[in-house]
Amino acid sequence: MKVTNFYSPNFNRKKRPEKSIKIMIIHYTGMQSERESIKRLCNPISKLSSHYLINQKGKIIRLVQDKYVAWHAGKSCWGRYKSLNENSIGIELVNKGHQFGYTNFKKKQILSLVKLGKRLIKKYKINKKNIVGHSDIAPLRKIDPGEKFPWKYLAKKRVGIWHDYEPNFLKKFRRTKVLAKQDKKRFVKNLNRVGYCFSTKKKLFFIKTIKAFQRHFRKELINGILDQECLIIAQNLTKKL
Ligand SMILES: [Zn+2]
Repeated sequence: MKVTNFYSPNFNRKKRPEKSIKIMIIHYTGMQSERESIKRLCNPISKLSSHYLINQKGKIIRLVQDKYVAWHAGKSCWGRYKSLNENSIGIELVNKGHQFGYTNFKKKQILSLVKLGKRLIKKYKINKKNIVGHSDIAPLRKIDPGEKFPWKYLAKKRVGIWHDYEPNFLKKFRRTKVLAKQDKKRFVKNLNRVGYCFSTKKKLFFIKTIKAFQRHFRKELINGILDQECLIIAQNLTKKL
């Protein structure tokens, strides 16, 4: 696997221990071009960076070395981890994003991501449930890498987790809202086990977290409403942990 080195000044100068790396966070760049994205991720004024950037041809560019904390996650939470920059590797995929014309990720790009992901999982013993999108860890602020990101394919390649269920069986459940309190409780508990941090007390946060979950695991319908299908998927996911 070829990695090209580039340099971003946007990282903490203090080295971190290898064992602090627990999570892999996937982003899209959300900018007009690859050039602009790299410029921004390397501009000291932006205070943004990631460890890697993968362009649409599948070229992997290292911007910050793994042993340093890069600045890509912002205010975030996953499992028992908070402010995830400290505990994660950030990977940016070049894609214009929802703002400038969201497109499918390129095959070569995803193949490179799988290779890189496998290497990182092995090197840092990253738990597969900790391979997440920016939206999963910061649902109030972020929607990247978005619903076009092929999570299912990645999981098939053993980079991440996925559920197994019969879509036809579940279709009839799709729009049936979950009303029972204990079902809702069970759903939250299951998603907490996967890693989602959420509170049922803050309504907006609850809706946005459901959206993040749907964007990742049930992209066919992203509406922030807890329905029977979400319930079943969440339960199924816990079997994969
Ligand atoms: Zn992001």
